[in-house]
Amino acid sequence: MRGLVLEQPGTPLRERELPSPEPGPGQVRIAIRACGVCRTDLHVRDGELPHPKLPLVLGHEIVGTVVDGGERFRAGDRVGVPWLGWTCGLCRYCRSGRENLCDLARFTGYTLDGGYAEETVADERYCFAIPAGYDDVAAAPLLCAGLIGYRSLVLAGDAERLGLYGFGASAHIVAQIARGQGRRVFAFTRAGDDAAQSLARELGAEWAGATGGPAPEELDAAIIFAPAGELVPEALRAVAKGGVVVCAGIHMSDIPSFPYELLWGERSVRSVANLTRRDGDELFALLERIPVRTEVERFPLADGEDALARLRAGQVRGAAVLAVAQAATGSSDAAAPR
Ligand SMILES: [Zn+2]
Ligand SMILES: [Zn+2]
Repeated sequence: MRGLVLEQPGTPLRERELPSPEPGPGQVRIAIRACGVCRTDLHVRDGELPHPKLPLVLGHEIVGTVVDGGERFRAGDRVGVPWLGWTCGLCRYCRSGRENLCDLARFTGYTLDGGYAEETVADERYCFAIPAGYDDVAAAPLLCAGLIGYRSLVLAGDAERLGLYGFGASAHIVAQIARGQGRRVFAFTRAGDDAAQSLARELGAEWAGATGGPAPEELDAAIIFAPAGELVPEALRAVAKGGVVVCAGIHMSDIPSFPYELLWGERSVRSVANLTRRDGDELFALLERIPVRTEVERFPLADGEDALARLRAGQVRGAAVLAVAQAATGSSDAAAPR
């Protein structure tokens, strides 16, 4: 099979002919149809996350069809493989419904090979069935951008006025869910990022503007998707008493020191780490009631490095997805649920 391989962090992915992976006990072999390109892939590629498996196939937003292996799915079933690839089931986190924090967790496209390839294997217990309303490419961003976004939204509580800092793959899904729940959405992007701001307005944000200035009104919660630590005090300044600032990324630049006054009034700052299988079950159930339209830029598998470069440069509108096997679906970039 063909795959893109990261041999050393900080070096370009290389296209290679690789042996077809063999499913072990409890694993399914999957013919990959699409794999989303996540900012976390960029952090791994650039050496900002420690101790990746090497050589490594990146990618943790995998949509494909089961070829063989396992018991839970049948050959031909369409499944999604997320970032959480395996947990121990025994540690204090696993035993308390917090498998996202498992000490021994393994992660797809980081400590396990992922989806920038034609085939992969995955522990079937961590795979999700993909809702029929989404084609392969449209569904891929749900597997991380959607899942981490959903978990972040849950941790934002019942905030009515929600600020989203950084309007990329995750925020564009969260905005639609939040609107579907009747919340008000405010989108903050890099100054001059008109594409992201117009996408935010299209998807229901009532205001979209640049970070670095005051919020248009007080917020009840903020979710920070951009990996920029200086947004933490900015978002704290924007939220009302009792408000929460949720940091959704796996990597962020240092947070500058700030006066205690910004945290006072029972404001809080927290991060979101990984996902649980329950998050996935909840999200896919929620999408039955609140369908979202993923805005996708497609790239052929061979252009994975180029897709990462465009993401690094902030040039992707919505989510970037590698279309590995071309599904027999429309060619529209805005893939809508049917
Ligand atoms: Zn564990
Ligand atoms: Zn991700």
